[in-house]
Amino acid sequence: MRITRVAAIAAVAALSFTVAACGGDDGGTGTGGSKATGIVGKAESSKKLVIGVKSDQPGLGLQTGSAYEGFDVEIGKIIAKGLGVDAGGIEWKTTTTPNREPFIQQGTVDLVIATYTINDERKQKVSFGGPYYIAGQDLLVKTDNTSIVGPESLDGKKVCSVSGSTPAKRILAEHPKAKLQQFDAYAKCLPLLDGGQVDAVTTDDIILAGYAAQPQYAGKFKVVGKPFSSEPYGIGLKKDDKAGCAKVNEILTAAASDGSYKAAWDSTLGKSGTPAPTLDTSKLTNCPAV
Ligand code: GLU
Repeated sequence: MRITRVAAIAAVAALSFTVAACGGDDGGTGTGGSKATGIVGKAESSKKLVIGVKSDQPGLGLQTGSAYEGFDVEIGKIIAKGLGVDAGGIEWKTTTTPNREPFIQQGTVDLVIATYTINDERKQKVSFGGPYYIAGQDLLVKTDNTSIVGPESLDGKKVCSVSGSTPAKRILAEHPKAKLQQFDAYAKCLPLLDGGQVDAVTTDDIILAGYAAQPQYAGKFKVVGKPFSSEPYGIGLKKDDKAGCAKVNEILTAAASDGSYKAAWDSTLGKSGTPAPTLDTSKLTNCPAV
């Protein structure tokens, strides 16, 4: 079921390889020809970057000891490399759903690559390169659950999600009869689903598929498989770092054709056998105008 779902996502994403219109100058020098600022300048001068990722989302951003792994982590390495920073120059920092905008605004991290949906509300605070992947909101239920078949079945049901996430906001706005319980991490919802204290967990399908595949939950949970939103994953950075944003998109455009995007997928989420989606570079249009 997971494979079918993710294959469908890949098919939707597989549109074109046309070069992104959102280009911009390489150096990010701003006016007056002064030294590069923003992430381009920091990477150039220090050869270091701090990247915020999730720590508890298998396949996407998962921390084991001091090491982080997953698709978002691999995308981070691609972006850093394109900025001239090797893997040893990256400091990974755990971000949660609600602290992503503040971490970017306060400079706690240079970039956030953390299943981070691009939307207009967030764009008022930060800028987004990407999208590099399109997910969709879905539901995780116990394998033997036959009563929850989509968001329309959630009236009166206990649903677990994360505060500040787009899926939690959508439940509150569009399915107000669901009894939503909100935490700061999706991993906290899983024992509750397992123990029957909640009826469903909701977030992006690709995150839920990762939890369902974890050995300790093998066979216990299923993703309903009827996504009811579009969640384009962006790379968050400071709102005024226009040149940095354009550079991120330039790096993604190169990654789409040089095999590195596919390699990032194949070594993480693709291990399940799901083919890599196509990174549609014609959609890299979220950066503010330079
Ligand atoms: N993509 C959604 C969001 O950015 C849900 C996943 C998450 O919380 O990281 O809100």
